[in-house]
Amino acid sequence: MSKRDYYEVLGIDKGASKEEIKKAYRKLARKYHPDVSKEEDAEEKFKEVKEAYEVLSDENKRAQYDQFGHSATNGQGFGGFGGAEDFGGFGDIFDMFFGGGRRRDPNAPQQGNDLQYSIVLEFHEAIFGKEMDIHVPKEETCETCHGSGAKPGTKVETCSHCHGSGQLNQEQNTPFGRVVNRRVCHYCNGSGKLIKEKCNTCGGNGRVKKNKKIHINIPAGIDEGQQIRVAGKGEPGINGGPAGDLFVVIHVRDHDFFVREGDDIHCELPINFAQAALGDELEVPTVHGKVKLKVPAGTQTGKMFRLKGKGAPNVRGRGQGDQIIKVRVVTPMNLTEKQKDLIREFNELGGNDSTEEQDNSIFKRFRNAFKN
Ligand SMILES: [Zn+2]
Ligand SMILES: [Zn+2]
Repeated sequence: MSKRDYYEVLGIDKGASKEEIKKAYRKLARKYHPDVSKEEDAEEKFKEVKEAYEVLSDENKRAQYDQFGHSATNGQGFGGFGGAEDFGGFGDIFDMFFGGGRRRDPNAPQQGNDLQYSIVLEFHEAIFGKEMDIHVPKEETCETCHGSGAKPGTKVETCSHCHGSGQLNQEQNTPFGRVVNRRVCHYCNGSGKLIKEKCNTCGGNGRVKKNKKIHINIPAGIDEGQQIRVAGKGEPGINGGPAGDLFVVIHVRDHDFFVREGDDIHCELPINFAQAALGDELEVPTVHGKVKLKVPAGTQTGKMFRLKGKGAPNVRGRGQGDQIIKVRVVTPMNLTEKQKDLIREFNELGGNDSTEEQDNSIFKRFRNAFKN
């Protein structure tokens, strides 16, 4: 079954603001929530809406989606990084229905944060792809206490003040009767747990910052500003929740000779005045090695040649770009007297007549442009 476009699912256009996305999501989530909806296929629709929202509400994921479509978010776009989406928790929706302060259960699993990491590639590396290890500083579950935050051998106790809920109820008499106020338990800071003796390694956090080695596979044809999503390599989840994702942002160093434009590679080729006038067969560098190029007699500056398939491979496997060569005719300098004489003679023989004709036609066109 082909997936519907996320923007279409939410009924918004591609330029929609964060607010518009949120608004569209809330409206549809209310309509299709399986517990309240009378619509057919409500559950399927709800999942679809939730998935679209999860991607479009996250700047990173949205940028990826805009660039690569569904392949960017289901993990199949780049060499099979596994991707897992969780459509289980309806907590957000209930918060939305019942309003008020968020009553997040401190013991509920929470997904870890996404991380971003930038790397700089050489021009050729981006074109041909690369496997490499990167060392990403990130929070890891503390190995000493396995994330509990308690010194090994000691126990984490359920907070006796809030009984593990992380919240305290406070009854108040108001003119409208008795009202129960909920607030964050200040004994456990809302965690629902009390640590008597803190783990020495992590200081009770349950996490430590570490440089984690991660192997990544950079697909051939990647370009400046693109990102690779490595599923599950972000920060660890809380209470057994899934880890976040790692987004590797690609930067590519400029090349002295080549300039990348999408899958095409551009370059400028200087040729001398004799080659331009008489024609020549030249060897031209490409990222795939040297290639012969026939420059016909009478070639002008600015003339472009296309070498089919000599560009960068498409990052999504859709063919190969071209190399585009722009010729620049170099005017000779520091001529000897003899050379100057020969050029004068060449001129007297009518060698420059054809170029004068071109010049004349340019002046004519200018004049015509200013008539009327
Ligand atoms: Zn620890
Ligand atoms: Zn408490």
